[in-house]
Amino acid sequence: MGIANGLPAGFNPDVYDAIIVGAGYAGAVCARRLAEACGMKVAVIERRDHIGGNAYDYVDDAGILVHKYGPHIYHTMNGRVNQYLSRFTEWTGYQHKVLANIHGTLMPVPFNHTSLKLAFGDERGEALYQKLVATFGENKKVPIMELREKNDPELSEVADYVYENVFLHYTMKQWGKTPDQIDPSITGRVPVFVGDDDRYFPTAKYQGMPAEGYTKLFENMLNHDLVSVFLGVDVRDILKVGTSNVLVCGRPYGGEIVYSGPLDELFGLDLGALPYRTLDMQFETLPVDQFQPVGTVNYTTSEDFTRITEFKNMTGQVAPGRTTIMREYSKAYVPESGQTPYYAILEDENLKLYRRYRERVAGILNFHCVGRLAEYRYYDMDGVVASALNLSDELIQAHN
Ligand code: FAD
Repeated sequence: MGIANGLPAGFNPDVYDAIIVGAGYAGAVCARRLAEACGMKVAVIERRDHIGGNAYDYVDDAGILVHKYGPHIYHTMNGRVNQYLSRFTEWTGYQHKVLANIHGTLMPVPFNHTSLKLAFGDERGEALYQKLVATFGENKKVPIMELREKNDPELSEVADYVYENVFLHYTMKQWGKTPDQIDPSITGRVPVFVGDDDRYFPTAKYQGMPAEGYTKLFENMLNHDLVSVFLGVDVRDILKVGTSNVLVCGRPYGGEIVYSGPLDELFGLDLGALPYRTLDMQFETLPVDQFQPVGTVNYTTSEDFTRITEFKNMTGQVAPGRTTIMREYSKAYVPESGQTPYYAILEDENLKLYRRYRERVAGILNFHCVGRLAEYRYYDMDGVVASALNLSDELIQAHN
């Protein structure tokens, strides 16, 4: 039915069979499927002034397509997710590559054959590589924990180099931690790739960028006669959660509610705020054709930003003489400050707090949580689409 700014005067929720909060992947997939498969009339309520959630992209003042909330690279092994999204977009053949800036030298990440030679010199790097091949075989991802377990001084040297120069400082910047606060079980999982493939997602069966951008993908998904999108509306202004029901515009609401926002906010953070990391993203347009050789360069031993993204390198856009880059600074999220909660901090205490919020809505049969915020977890785009497909399967079954 279209996209409107704000709710119309006299908005009547009872006209809709479902109210969906959030126009990111979680909300948009559910909205489209409920409309299409059950003929339900759906209202999507989104507090930002655009659709697409964190995958939103737009053309900046220099005419470059940029990702407002950080670089998004589509990759998945999930055939159903790929088939579903491919209804709404074609894909470019983009294959993501990441380089780490290690003391001024750019080396492929995950650390591979090329990186070893760059780090240790041609001859010694090759010798270390041959030892890795002899020990583990070629085209294998080997966690540094496994290198250490071999009790071989040369393999340990590779593990130590990767730990120190690729992982440690980057992780400290990203999560605001000191080395002793970093969980050793995560540390040990940092991989070395025994091979030459320098793609970041070498095993993803489907990978690319939406040919006309992410926002266009969302426009196509939400473009359905039974779906109305209302932008710039914080649902907390019209929706209150009770003990056994939900009030919308002051009256009990009988339709389905799909909620993809943060659960703690819905209760005024009364049990405490769920902790997140947020990001400051600083965009800059430069008068050059290209700034760096790949989409993303991680600064793993220097600088206080974590990485620089150059969008043209990912989207394939041709724009001679200008390019837009973005530096990411990671910091603690302050609730209710207008910042975006990006990464849930998945520690036991926080998960316990999340479960207490979740219990409050467990008995409300028409209230459904889906997505990275409402489920308080990290999802890649394919993961959240899979979760939304599952939830909408259940709702479709209940309504048909
Ligand atoms: P969101 O996209 O956050 O959508 C939720 C929506 O709900 C938001 O638009 C929000 O405004 C709205 N909302 C919340 N509360 C309210 C309210 N009270 N009223 C109204 N609306 C509300 N994934 C990949 O697969 N590849 C990548 O390369 C990748 N890169 C990423 C880079 C960064 C920096 C980050 C943070 C994430 C990245 N992701 C990537 C993950 C991807 O962004 C998420 O999987 C996906 O966007 C989650 O979709 P969602 O619908 O759950 O949440």
